[in-house]
Amino acid sequence: MRVDYKPEGIYLPAIDLWLDPLVPVDAAWLSHAHSDHARGLHQTIIATGITVQIYRHRWPLLHGRTQEVHRLNPNESIEWNGATLTARQAAHILGAAQLLVEYNGERLVYTGDIKHRAPICGWTTEATPCDHLIIESTFGLPIYQFLEAADAQTRIAAFARECLAAGQTPVFQGYGLGRGQEIAHTLALDEIPCEIHPSIAAFIPYYEAQNYTFPSASEGGAVLVTPGRKMPVDIAAAKRKVALVSGWAALDNARARSNADVLIPYSDHADFYELLALIHDSQAQQIDIVHGYAEPFAHILRKRGLSARAAMLTTEAQI
Ligand SMILES: [Zn+2]
Repeated sequence: MRVDYKPEGIYLPAIDLWLDPLVPVDAAWLSHAHSDHARGLHQTIIATGITVQIYRHRWPLLHGRTQEVHRLNPNESIEWNGATLTARQAAHILGAAQLLVEYNGERLVYTGDIKHRAPICGWTTEATPCDHLIIESTFGLPIYQFLEAADAQTRIAAFARECLAAGQTPVFQGYGLGRGQEIAHTLALDEIPCEIHPSIAAFIPYYEAQNYTFPSASEGGAVLVTPGRKMPVDIAAAKRKVALVSGWAALDNARARSNADVLIPYSDHADFYELLALIHDSQAQQIDIVHGYAEPFAHILRKRGLSARAAMLTTEAQI
């Protein structure tokens, strides 16, 4: 089916549906609740129940406004303008889902942000064979190879304990939604109390509702989890050590760019090899690449004999 790649987002004209639009539209599929995918007050939204909750947290309805909401949890389907829409689990942040569109005998899958291996928190990806795949390529170069979730958790806990034993404050740079909670949850499993930045703590109730545990707040902040480079409290540089937990940590220059002492390459996006695995699982004949290294990644796929094109290069992914 025809797919229009516009600056405002991805549009399926045959069924009048936008995929993760960046501006308010009549009807939108929201793959997950990161702000570069779920933004604006759309008239109608279709998303998993968890994504709807977090989206509404960020985009509370204006007074007097109504919004039509279709909660589509994994493996549930609805009919939409002659197509069947089915949500399929995506490993990314809590509630993330792929969308399978079946229309006129064709199967199209839009992955949203996704990884192939299991994340620390959230669903695993459900392989969804299709004819036409729209997939992200935030880390679509071979230099990006990340740790398994369990190995990342081991590194996170070890770093915290080593710093504490040396009398230093360990600081983890995560992200407001996703990585920050995964780090805090990992510390909780190791019973390491920590101080969590309010922008990360704000989303913890949604994780607790899915039975993920979190550390009790520590007096004086022995371990800090923070969304950016700015320290939430003033700690002398000599008394702290910073770990960057990110896909960008696969590059050595991330140390200087992030003022990090230690790099832990773990992401809620697929690394290059996971992207290849996702594409293999899809069995798709046509692959459209959006976000990140779309052009070089499409080139690499074509060299492997696949029909691939860079479809959209508009936004910078939030990771
Ligand atoms: Zn995302």
